[in-house]
Amino acid sequence: MEKLSNPQVTIATIKKYDFAFQKKFGQNFLIDEHVLNKIIGAAGVTKDDMVLEIGPGFGTLTQYLAESAREVVAVEIDKALIPVLNETLADYDNVTVINDDILKVDIEGLVNERNDGKPVKVVANLPYYITTPIIMGLLENHVPVDNITVMVQKEVAERMQAGPGTKDYGALSLAVQYYAKPYIAANVPPNCFIPRPNVGSAVIRLELFDAPPVKVIDERLMFQMIRASFNQRRKTLQNSIVNGGVSVTKDRIVAALKRMELSETIRGEALTLSQFAELANLLSEERDS
Ligand code: SAM
Repeated sequence: MEKLSNPQVTIATIKKYDFAFQKKFGQNFLIDEHVLNKIIGAAGVTKDDMVLEIGPGFGTLTQYLAESAREVVAVEIDKALIPVLNETLADYDNVTVINDDILKVDIEGLVNERNDGKPVKVVANLPYYITTPIIMGLLENHVPVDNITVMVQKEVAERMQAGPGTKDYGALSLAVQYYAKPYIAANVPPNCFIPRPNVGSAVIRLELFDAPPVKVIDERLMFQMIRASFNQRRKTLQNSIVNGGVSVTKDRIVAALKRMELSETIRGEALTLSQFAELANLLSEERDS
C-alpha cells in the first residue's frame, strides 16, 4: 500500500471510512514526507529500538516508525481509528496498537514488559491540548526513556527551550531543562497537516539526562517556588513566593538571596535553574537545621 504521507492516500482514507476529525482529540494528521523523515532523523530511531508512539491517528508516522524501529507500540484514544489502523498498518508485523488514553496507560509497566525495562524512544505528533501533561508525566514519573521527539505547538517548543531573561522563559522551561536537554529540530507550517491547525508547529527533541544537571535537596520546594514566581512574573521573587503560598518567610528568602549575592528586588524570570536550586537548598537546609 502506498504511504499515507502521500496526501491523496490520506484523502482517500478519509473518504473510505467517512472519517470525521475530532477537534477535542487534537486531530491534525501529517501529510508531508519531508517532515516525517525529519522526525525519524531527529529521534535517531534504529532497528534496536522500541518506540512508543502517542496518537497514531491514521498511522502516517507509525508507517515510518515501523520501518526504522524494532518494535512500535502506538496508543490511540479514538476507537473510530482502530479499524483504519488495522488496514494502514497491515503490512507491518512489529506494531501493536493500544486503544486507550495515554494519560491512563502504565507506561513503565509497558516498557518493563516489552523492552526488559531498557529505555525506549517516544515519538509523536502530539495532540496539542495535552502536550504538557504528557511530557511532564513522562519526565516526572522517571519512565525509562532515552529521548522524546515530538511535534508540538511552536510557542510551546520555544518555551521549553527558553533561557532566563527571555519572554518565553517560565516554569515549563525549568521543568523540562531539569530532566532533559531540548533541541528544536524543525519548524513546521500548518499546510503540512490535514486539517490545517490554527498555529505553527515545531519538532522538538528532548534528550533525557541520566541525572539532573543540578543537585536539589527538596525538588518539591524548588518547583513550588518556580511555579509561584512565574504565576506572578512581574512581582519580585520574594513577593511572588510568599504570595504563592510557599511556606517560607520573606526574611528567610531575603537572607538566602543575600548569601547568593542577588538583589532583594530580583524577579524569578532572571534566575537560572542552578540559582533556583541553590535558593531551594539554602531554604531547605535552614528549615531542617
Ligand atoms: N500521528 C498522527 C499523524 O501524525 O498524522 C496523528 C497525530 S494527531 C495531532 C494526534 C492524535 O492523538 C490523534 O490521533 C488523536 O486521536 C490522538 N489522541 C488525542 N488524545 C489522546 C490521548 N489522550 N491518548 C492517546 N491518543 C490521543
